[in-house]
Amino acid sequence: MPETCLVIGAGVAAFGFANAIRDAGYQGRLIIVGAEESPPYERPPLSKAYLLGKKHEDDLIYRPLSFYEERGITLVLGERIASLDLQARSAQAESGKTYHFDQLVLATGANPIRLPIPGAELPGVRVLRSMADARALRDDLHRVERVFVIGGGFIGCEVAASARTLGKQVTLVETMPVLLGRALGEQIGSAIARVHERRSVVLRLGRRVEALEGRARVERAILDDGTVLPCDLVVVGIGVRPALPAIDGDLEIDNGVVVDATCAASAPGVWAAGDVARWWHPTIQRAIRVEHYDNALAMGAAVAKAVAGQPEPYAPVPSFWSDQYDLTIQYYGYPVEWDEIIVRGDLDEPAFTAFYLASGRIFGAVIVGRPKDMRPARRLVERLAQVDRAVLSDPEVDLRTLLS
Ligand SMILES: Cc1cc2nc3c(=O)[nH]c(=O)nc-3n(C[C@H](O)[C@H](O)[C@H](O)COP(=O)(O)OP(=O)(O)OC[C@H]3O[C@@H](n4cnc5c(N)ncnc54)[C@H](O)[C@@H]3O)c2cc1C
Repeated sequence: MPETCLVIGAGVAAFGFANAIRDAGYQGRLIIVGAEESPPYERPPLSKAYLLGKKHEDDLIYRPLSFYEERGITLVLGERIASLDLQARSAQAESGKTYHFDQLVLATGANPIRLPIPGAELPGVRVLRSMADARALRDDLHRVERVFVIGGGFIGCEVAASARTLGKQVTLVETMPVLLGRALGEQIGSAIARVHERRSVVLRLGRRVEALEGRARVERAILDDGTVLPCDLVVVGIGVRPALPAIDGDLEIDNGVVVDATCAASAPGVWAAGDVARWWHPTIQRAIRVEHYDNALAMGAAVAKAVAGQPEPYAPVPSFWSDQYDLTIQYYGYPVEWDEIIVRGDLDEPAFTAFYLASGRIFGAVIVGRPKDMRPARRLVERLAQVDRAVLSDPEVDLRTLLS
């Protein structure tokens, strides 16, 4: 009997896996079980091109069903795994069906955090993670005028930008004094905040929402300073938590499934990829969990090689991008604490590259409106380079000269 590899979750990481597994030489049975109705699709456009009507659902689906058939992959959609028994090597679906496995890949992604305040369950209060969420949000956006966004992270900023581009009145509340502050720091986060203010997004920074109120649906938000903000639609983007079924058996979970540098979890024959995985990064010698697209795709492919018997250390420089209005924010780097930020260019335009340094080494770089800096900035991060600060901050210096 050939062995069976079961993948739970049919998202970005599962697609990265499916795309690579047969090329890696795996000959066992493959089953991918996903809770959503769609075959694996790209999530990033959901907050951007899809909301703006520039991309449609079919445009986001990576490959037709025949792609999976041709690879001998059984794709089961609309099926949620409720629990896992690692001893019995089986997964129980909510439908009552049982799936047996020899190897297991957890690619379950993450779920949006719900707001723990009164009124959070009112109609008209939405989150954005899935195609179904995006469909509902897009339909609402066509009907409403006043949009209230809770959370100034990537999802909140992108939804605010899309809603504003559609001509809606947008107010965004964020507990930090800037936007994107957790990822990019105060200096860069305030430059991004100015971008939104210039587009007439009303920012309520350093404030918290205490309650949402309304009769049949949400009508207003109450902030912690007593401000009452009338609104027709609320979008909550306050972060995500790793999504996992109930697990019977020994598996180390700590802010995600803990895996080693080859993506192997603590139980034999169990692997994890994408937003749900927290892995030991060999370059920076610490465990990180990354909630970004490039990682999910590449980690799925790395797990495919491991499942096929060729495990290798998975050690990419994490990267992400975010599109807001006509700006692309591109980031390369590790989620580590920095002690210094060096900026080259103009934060106000904005057209700048900022380097994040820890102990004099470059651990990250964000590039906005300076596409020429992208490749060399990435290389500098790959090398954890130590570069003269004056040279680094000079926008006239071609970064490529720092690589030689
Ligand atoms: C709106 C939006 C915009 C984004 N934009 C960007 C961007 O611009 N740049 C960027 O770098 N990243 C972006 N991201 C992040 C990126 O999409 C994620 O990092 C990526 O999707 C993670 O892939 P994944 O496979 O780990 O999880 P997912 O893609 O979330 O897939 C997980 C799948 O598993 C399913 N699942 C969960 N539990 C179960 C279960 N028990 N049984 C069966 N199935 C289950 C889920 O339903 C889901 O379909 C964005 C994300 C969102 C939501």
